[in-house]
Amino acid sequence: MEKSEIMEKRIVFATGNAHKMEEIRMILSDLNMPILSMKEAGVDVEVVEDGTTFEENAIKKATGIAEYLPNDIVLADDSGLEIDYLNKEPGIYSARYAGVDTSYDIKNQMLLDRLKGVADEKRTARFVCAIAAVIPGEETEVVRGTIEGIIGHELAGENGFGYDPIFYVPEYGCSTAEMTPEQKNELSHRGNALRAMKKRLEKKL
Ligand code: IMP
Repeated sequence: MEKSEIMEKRIVFATGNAHKMEEIRMILSDLNMPILSMKEAGVDVEVVEDGTTFEENAIKKATGIAEYLPNDIVLADDSGLEIDYLNKEPGIYSARYAGVDTSYDIKNQMLLDRLKGVADEKRTARFVCAIAAVIPGEETEVVRGTIEGIIGHELAGENGFGYDPIFYVPEYGCSTAEMTPEQKNELSHRGNALRAMKKRLEKKL
């Protein structure tokens, strides 16, 4: 594909989450391409995430949305929390853990209860984010970003979302819910995956 052909393309990120869009726009801004949410691109479809890995789900989502946007670069992500002591639960089921409608206060407390009495060195965990890109006329790309931490003993912090209040990063001495959005973007799983994807896309421009 000619460089000029790709340069005219748009990037559409398959998410309805405004917080994610902000992060994505910040990190991908120097690709100098319009970056749209699914809604901004006029697409409103649900893709069933029934894959067995983060990568499979991200590819499924990006491929499903790309059917409606054949001329755009379509990106999609799938992310979650892996707790080693719980055999990597909740993993790809992070959003659905204990039911989609259960609040994160409850989900987080349930995980803390399951780890009651477990020593710090066995509380290792990571956030994982896979990002897939369907690029017209090119092979589909998929990358993974992670951030390592440990599960704390109590909820801490008001920032972020989801499992942030129980995800403690020893090097920073705080949970990801106690970080500013800028600090978190610099080291987060999604930030790392987005930076890896940006490098892949740059090679194709
Ligand atoms: P999805 O990739 O939007 O489906 O998100 C999966 C789930 O993983 C979210 O609903 C959260 O429960 C969890 N998760 C993913 N990233 C983060 C994060 O940065 N902080 C806290 N929880 C997260």
